[in-house]
Amino acid sequence: HAKSNGRDNYQFFRADMNDCVMQRLLLEGSLRRALKHQEFVLHYQPQFDLKSGVMTGAEALIRWRDPELGLVYPDDFIPTAIESGLILPIGRWVLRQTCIQIGMWLEAGSQPVPVAVNVSMIELTHPLFVTGLAEILMETGLPANYLKLEFTEKVLTPDTEAFHRTLQALIDMGVGLVIDDFGTGHSSLSLLRHYAISALKIDRAFVHDMVTYPDDASIINAVIGIGHSLKQRVVAKGVENQKQLMMLRAQRCDTGQGFLFGRPQDADGFTNLLMHQNDGTSQGKQA
Ligand code: C2E
Ligand code: MG
Ligand code: MG
Repeated sequence: HAKSNGRDNYQFFRADMNDCVMQRLLLEGSLRRALKHQEFVLHYQPQFDLKSGVMTGAEALIRWRDPELGLVYPDDFIPTAIESGLILPIGRWVLRQTCIQIGMWLEAGSQPVPVAVNVSMIELTHPLFVTGLAEILMETGLPANYLKLEFTEKVLTPDTEAFHRTLQALIDMGVGLVIDDFGTGHSSLSLLRHYAISALKIDRAFVHDMVTYPDDASIINAVIGIGHSLKQRVVAKGVENQKQLMMLRAQRCDTGQGFLFGRPQDADGFTNLLMHQNDGTSQGKQA
């Protein structure tokens, strides 16, 4: 009996695994096509200064408009893009598209804000990343200080000379560096000590729980303390309600990003937001 059970389990496992492999291969193929047919789009989510209510930045977030599936969110395809290496060409598209878009906002006179782009460790540790980015900035003529790169702390940052040279080169170019999900992973205090990181982002989970759990509020307070003593801005993401906003303000958090202020929106929507940011009707001022 035990034997046949074992075999059943074995077969079940195999079938399941093949399914995964198949799915991944299918997705990889679709992603390649998506790149070729330009099915990716960027949405932009605004960030607001918590003291003045002024819009101070945005985060670019990729979406995939699949002709059959509709709008696909990054959590459903970025992991496969990272595993397959397709994140390299996709990431280059994201960087170039962001630079082009900010350039268009500049040209239209609609006072753009710096935009943060998420980059994976695969991209950031690629030997040609810095030159590739420098080329994109050159081609698009965008001043580097309009661009920020966010990398997550959830993935271990390599402690190699090559990686440190990359970070320094990016800082020298004038590109801002942001540590995403700060406090959830391998807290890179040594990175903070050696590099002019421009901002720390607090994970949504802490912001969500801060109103119910004093420990989460304490952790946020500690992160703000670290950031401020190193002259970095601290950004809270996933701000969804007034209570969270009030607590973050009381803790002197600098910047907020979340549904309370505005959802990620397509380029047209964000252009609209930029054009109206100074006439007092923006959500940031109401909040
Ligand atoms: P992230 O960097 O943590 O981005 C913030 C995510 O939180 C976004 O999800 C955003 O839509 C969502 N969000 C914003 N405000 C709120 C809120 O108030 N409440 C809640 N519940 N969620 C909120 P999205 O767009 O689905 O992106 C998911 C993740 O995919 C990002 O997390 C980022 O890690 C990754 N990603 C997005 N675009 C890119 C990209 O171009 N390249 C790479 N490598 N990763 C990307
Ligand atoms: Mg991010
Ligand atoms: Mg996240």
